[in-house]
Amino acid sequence: MGSENITAVRIGKERVVLEEDTTVVPIELELAGSSTVELTLTVAAPPVMEVAQAPAVGASRLTLGQKVPAKPEGVASGAIFKPIKRTDAAFATLVRNDNSDIVFKNEEGTSADRMMTPKLKVKLDALAVLVKAEWAGTKLRVTEAWDEQGEHAAGSLHYEGRAADLTTAPLDNAKLGRLGRLAVDAGFDWVFYENAVHVHVSMKK
Ligand SMILES: [Zn+2]
Repeated sequence: MGSENITAVRIGKERVVLEEDTTVVPIELELAGSSTVELTLTVAAPPVMEVAQAPAVGASRLTLGQKVPAKPEGVASGAIFKPIKRTDAAFATLVRNDNSDIVFKNEEGTSADRMMTPKLKVKLDALAVLVKAEWAGTKLRVTEAWDEQGEHAAGSLHYEGRAADLTTAPLDNAKLGRLGRLAVDAGFDWVFYENAVHVHVSMKK
């Protein structure tokens, strides 16, 4: 009988339709002579259908605009305390990332893109390993980390060195969705597939 949902039984020319909620059907067979044999037909419940559906949180790629976790950055990573200037005492709390498996854009020529909080550095270094393993010959690229020039929106965590903008080297925007997922796997506090040309990540203070 397997897992088929039996709706009727046929005995000789007789077709007996089972009630919808029937689960156990007593059957009595009358044999030639005087003996009878009683049987019980058990109708299996219909199999539970598993709906194939990729859960957004566990999918192998982030979709454009997706945030993980799906909350505002200020909730996931915490709002900015105070932008850090090079002349501030707080500047000494930032570390320089010289990981050779990461390409830094450094378009400012000041190495500001290499400056970040120790927490952000740990996660970028972890992500660099994942990127290298995922795509032979491709490296993680950081286009922005700490920003001392006010290039981001007010309140941006880039000003505290807690955020980074990511692509790959060589540049391949088709990899960004997967890069976003790898960033989630690396353990950033917030990952945002912000637009078609970069993924933004940030860390708690
Ligand atoms: Zn950013």
